[in-house]
Amino acid sequence: MARMNALTRRLVLLVVALLAFAIAAKVPVTFTYDPPAGLEVRSVSLRGSFNNWAELPMNKQDNGTWSLSVELEPGVVQYKFFINGQWPKNMCDDPTFGTPQVDAEAQGCVDDGQGGLNAFREVRPQADQPAEDEAEALGFEHDPAAVRYVSQAAGKLSVRFEAREGAVKEAYLEAAERYPMHRQLAYGGIELWRAAVPPSPGEYRIRVVDSGGQEQNFGPFRPPQQPFTALDWVGNRVGYQVFLDRFWNGDPANDEKALATDEYNFNQAWNKDPGAPKPFVSKWSDPPAGDHCCHQYYGGDLAGFIQKLPYLQEQGVSLIYFNPLFTSGSAHGYDTHSYLEVSPKFGDKALLKKALDEAHKRGIRVIFDFVPNHTGLGFFAFQDAVKRGRNSPYWNWYFIKKWPLMPGDATAYDTYGGFGSLPKLNTANPGVQRYLLEVVKYWLRFGFDGLRVDHPQGILNREAFYTELRRAARSVKPDAYLVAEIWERDSSWLQGDQFDSLMNYAVGREVVLRYARGGALFSGGRMLPELARVYGTYAEAVAAMSFNLIGSHDTVRVLTDLGGGGLRDTPSADALGRVRLAAAVLYALPGVPVFFQGDECGFGGEMPSSPPYDLHRYPVQWDRCKLDLQAHFKQLALLRKELPALTSPVFRTFKGDGPVMAFLRGEPGDGEVLAVFNNSNEPARLELPPGPWRDPLEARTYRGELELPPLGWRYLVRTGGGER
Ligand code: CA
Repeated sequence: MARMNALTRRLVLLVVALLAFAIAAKVPVTFTYDPPAGLEVRSVSLRGSFNNWAELPMNKQDNGTWSLSVELEPGVVQYKFFINGQWPKNMCDDPTFGTPQVDAEAQGCVDDGQGGLNAFREVRPQADQPAEDEAEALGFEHDPAAVRYVSQAAGKLSVRFEAREGAVKEAYLEAAERYPMHRQLAYGGIELWRAAVPPSPGEYRIRVVDSGGQEQNFGPFRPPQQPFTALDWVGNRVGYQVFLDRFWNGDPANDEKALATDEYNFNQAWNKDPGAPKPFVSKWSDPPAGDHCCHQYYGGDLAGFIQKLPYLQEQGVSLIYFNPLFTSGSAHGYDTHSYLEVSPKFGDKALLKKALDEAHKRGIRVIFDFVPNHTGLGFFAFQDAVKRGRNSPYWNWYFIKKWPLMPGDATAYDTYGGFGSLPKLNTANPGVQRYLLEVVKYWLRFGFDGLRVDHPQGILNREAFYTELRRAARSVKPDAYLVAEIWERDSSWLQGDQFDSLMNYAVGREVVLRYARGGALFSGGRMLPELARVYGTYAEAVAAMSFNLIGSHDTVRVLTDLGGGGLRDTPSADALGRVRLAAAVLYALPGVPVFFQGDECGFGGEMPSSPPYDLHRYPVQWDRCKLDLQAHFKQLALLRKELPALTSPVFRTFKGDGPVMAFLRGEPGDGEVLAVFNNSNEPARLELPPGPWRDPLEARTYRGELELPPLGWRYLVRTGGGER
């Protein structure tokens, strides 16, 4: 064995120090399983959300119990004990493994998504050591170069600092003028304080009065020359996702064209397999067949989209996100055959141009779906490489492992997700990069207003690629909107040099959907800090442009997620009420609320693990649309128009308490909105901030206490001053 040299030793020490630091934030938690009398236990493992449900063996104790201590990050954890190689179905009541609770120390149980219940516990942070001096007690953090602290939106420069919760009494930003700062967000033991000032304030200082009355000064700071700035046109919109094959069929004459472009014509592995999918065209209300997701076509098209534009406008929609429109081998379109042609089953370029023009005339902007990670089998470069092997100029556009090869054979080349129909592009190849960037420029010149990038993390050299993509897009259209399909909360994509927004499933699903489900685990008290954490992590410019969604073509329908059953079920009033509540929360957040086509109609749709798959993508049966739910979505859109605070970038926490969640929107003062929600089936009460609060729907003003009906919500407007 080679001995470590000095540098390696130093690196190892550094890593150990970092690990020790990282672990310090964790909290020791002991889990104990006490088996019921008469049960012979051979093995117990701890499996939970904290270890991706892998097995952590628990140890048998002398007293017959099994236990294990682990270090966990603060937060809510879900888990089960895995006993004798079996899952207890219900951790809160299982006749075999323990009743009433399998783990007596669990704080409760929650749906495990498999028809059973997981146990949950809240891991609380350990109390901090008392601070050594005042500055440390304050926990002041600010860096003008970090977009989290300084960015620009709605014509103002937003300046924020972080401090320990409760440590700040007052704060001021001092430039040429003095601006009071206000407490914006609180979560996880910290607070963010904020002021919005005119752009380019010059050098500034931050003056803080701490809770003990001592004044502390920080700075001077110099704001960046070109702060990360939100596009002004995005945040006041209402979004809608259109999956064209299943939206509306305006031209039956083009339906059969789907068959000529389908993957079936290119996938030679399928040709050898009698059980392989064969594409076919269905009538609009035909039942879903085995290959419903991908090769059962329903005939929806651009002509149908144009026919429905007045409806979308009526609903207040002002931003469309289209699933792929270009020639491909499937109903979903993520296997591109031509990046530069409109799929003939949808229409042609002239019709797409008309669709964009008609949308723009109605004040609706449109973004397209861009798939740079992989192509379909029919793409010219792939076909050329298949035909000519190493003699093809496109050989290095892919990662081909053997030749001659059969298109569709996933072992012959790198793929997306192991699918032979999706050969992975070599995006490290400059030729591929140039081609893809030209595609982006082409469609932005053509008339799209931005794009959503599919599977962006798959790209090689991603930072360089997306920096270039941003530059290319903005060179053609200076206000092009760039959205990445990233599901997690991850600010690394949102520093101002790559994307404007992620697809915010991390807000829509992790917070709004959970809250709308109700129950103790997802109370307002637990969910409000989660929202605060989102807006505390991201730049205010990012909040202003957020693409906020709960469901899409990649998730079960929102109604299904909220207990409304699947495609063929009749939803309960409770489930529909929870959809209304979820929509009311999403429409009140900074950025654009985006719903999947037909969600406003009250359709369910599940994602079964056996065929037919993807029932959430079933065609929208417009004649069965639930008109009262449709009216609710329309009303929310009208409220966003009527109350400018709802489309401002500013989000402030007010109160999360039991079933109630309440947050403030807009700059403090007249016109700001208090958005209030109740996720329980009982009425709930909330003490309002001082002053009169007007409900624009009831034309009545509240003061003091407010009662919310079961699953109720209100947007209240501050009128006539009052304390801030
Ligand atoms: Ca058609």
